[in-house]
Amino acid sequence: MIKNMKSFVSGMCETNSYILSDEDNNCVIFDPEGSSAQYINYIKANNLKPLAIMLTHAHFDHVGAMEALKKEYGIEVIAGEDEKPVLENPSINLTTMIGTAKSYSADRYVKDGEEVEFGKMKFKVIFTPGHTCGSVCYICGDTMISGDTLFMGSCGRTDFPTGDWKQMTESLKLLKNLDGDYKVYSGHGPSTTLEIERKTNMYMR
Ligand SMILES: [Zn+2]
Repeated sequence: MIKNMKSFVSGMCETNSYILSDEDNNCVIFDPEGSSAQYINYIKANNLKPLAIMLTHAHFDHVGAMEALKKEYGIEVIAGEDEKPVLENPSINLTTMIGTAKSYSADRYVKDGEEVEFGKMKFKVIFTPGHTCGSVCYICGDTMISGDTLFMGSCGRTDFPTGDWKQMTESLKLLKNLDGDYKVYSGHGPSTTLEIERKTNMYMR
């Protein structure tokens, strides 16, 4: 169960990053962009214990603070198994585009449907390729971290390397057909709910 959810907006793409924590103060950091200090300060102020960094995908604007946080806390980085080439290849993770070509790696690559447990939070991995070849969404209880797959009223672009429009439409269909409703926290823009998107998002119809 998630007790607290904190969102951060940072970087040139106004990326949403999140820290989710449970009742025992364990926390997981999602898609950390921008300065690592904002996360470290929040973690310190709330006496949290970081257990992992989880990535929805590895574009430069979702991993800006990843290495600093990994170093600070010695925690593992988790990504979808098909995201490996995006992490590793600077022209796919787009760090080439911003002039700081970087190759990254994850410590653990997770599969579609896999469940990852941290403290009292259990995250289910949903493979949702389209924005990148290995993009995933994570579900914990009624909370969905949707990365750049699903946005309020929109979806992620598919014109970057390994992006694929057909895969994106299939991924959105898969999310649409999930049972029940979820609070949806996207990689960019405001949060929404799956039910609102089912009804109003033209890319989900
Ligand atoms: Zn992206």
